[in-house]
Amino acid sequence: MSGATGKSSRWVPSWEQWLSRPGEWRNWGRTESARPNYTARPSKIEDVCQVVQRAVERDGAVKALGAGHSFTGIARPRDVALSLEHMRGLVAVDASARRVTLRAGTFLHEIPALLEPHGLAMPNLGDIDRQTLAGAISTGTHGTGTAFGGIATQVVGATLVDGTGQVRVVSEDDPHLRGVAVGLGALGVLVEVTLQCVEAFVLEAVESPAPLDEVIDGYLDRVGAADHYEFYWFPGTSVALTKTNTRLPASASTSPLTDVRRFVDDRVVSNEALRAMCEIGRAAPSLTPKLISLATSLTGDRRFSDVSTGVFTTRRTVRFRESEWAVPLDRTMEAFAAVRSLVESRDWNITFPIEVRAAAADDLWLSTASGRESGYIAVHRYYRDEDTEYFREVEKVMLSFGGRPHWGKMHTRSADFFTSEYPRFGEFLELRDTFDPHRVFANDYLDRVLGV
Ligand SMILES: Cc1cc2nc3c(=O)[nH]c(=O)nc-3n(C[C@H](O)[C@H](O)[C@H](O)COP(=O)(O)OP(=O)(O)OC[C@H]3O[C@@H](n4cnc5c(N)ncnc54)[C@H](O)[C@@H]3O)c2cc1C
Repeated sequence: MSGATGKSSRWVPSWEQWLSRPGEWRNWGRTESARPNYTARPSKIEDVCQVVQRAVERDGAVKALGAGHSFTGIARPRDVALSLEHMRGLVAVDASARRVTLRAGTFLHEIPALLEPHGLAMPNLGDIDRQTLAGAISTGTHGTGTAFGGIATQVVGATLVDGTGQVRVVSEDDPHLRGVAVGLGALGVLVEVTLQCVEAFVLEAVESPAPLDEVIDGYLDRVGAADHYEFYWFPGTSVALTKTNTRLPASASTSPLTDVRRFVDDRVVSNEALRAMCEIGRAAPSLTPKLISLATSLTGDRRFSDVSTGVFTTRRTVRFRESEWAVPLDRTMEAFAAVRSLVESRDWNITFPIEVRAAAADDLWLSTASGRESGYIAVHRYYRDEDTEYFREVEKVMLSFGGRPHWGKMHTRSADFFTSEYPRFGEFLELRDTFDPHRVFANDYLDRVLGV
């Protein structure tokens, strides 16, 4: 890939109407940045093929960009950054099968309006909807609920441009779909994705504080009884903020949050107050425990119901960094207790909560829930705070419980680890050899986690 590292002034592409000299690329968490040599903004599949073919010819590299919401360097472009901003929207709907095909650059927050006229919804979502569809599935983005897999489990078909510039259609009966669905951006540029949707539904949300010890003791019962259950714990407190969402038919009457309440809860308390707390906590760490008790007393006590997307996702405007680990569901509380003891034994002044979620087992080769029902423990730090020691020590704990890192969140694992952790890892590497023989989609992160 030597030709890809420096800026190539000799290479004058004929397709420069949508290929421009870009500025700096940075991810949301401000952990990664790059100055790609070119940015491509294709609007047609044939243009994507051409970008890849031209990159191969000049021994270059292509990285499909999502919304930059991964904390790891997984989306960091080496040479050509390929934006799918002009490849968004609905391609086809199969109403009887409840399936939709979307252009891969569609943002998750654009999908509800596309599905609504057809009475459909995505079965589950994560905390936010700012990601692109392709980006979210490629890293195994998930929400919570032991009967529901991550977003990639909704994928029943995909069209991608492989590393030779050829279009590949991977359908439901092709076993390779299990590799493509969580493909880490290593197998090709996804251009269309078909999702299995469900009938639109309403979620009733109950958010309430509860004593942490009670939440730990009753965790498996609570997570098993609810459709979608999660809790947050602010280090230094003995209270957990719990969230329980119950699925109801679309015909159920709703009592949504008023615009004012949503503004106060989600914008003022969850974001602006959190930002203030993080900044004050940095300047005067001794105030952190008081600020956290104030924050927990202001948040997490409400009941409302709304269409599913209005409940699953919220806005996150306070920048943070995150490391998240999947462990076998029945060991989640042991692992959480170990993280809790670790945090309580250190003087880390953590102003962000620890989040605990769950997901169903699935059969996707590189899904963090592959082959096992999983609990997820996520640790966060304000982006201006030092995270290295906290994340490193938590990683050690999580490894002792069989933890698998989220592909888009910070960790230090490499290919040796994943070889022993994922039974189908070897098949994924073989598929990569077939789909990307020239390693046109490689970057430093993939070199580390997959090998070169
Ligand atoms: C505030 C915040 C909240 C989050 N909440 C959650 C959560 O609730 N649950 C969870 O699991 N994760 C969560 N994440 C992590 C996030 O969902 C993932 O990192 C996700 O991959 C980001 O999507 P993106 O569109 O930003 O993709 P990027 O981060 O830009 O890219 C991710 C990967 O997808 C690849 N990719 C993008 N487009 C294509 C394409 N067309 N073809 C092939 N590969 C492609 C990229 O090359 C890269 O390898 C959160 C992150 C943030 C910052």
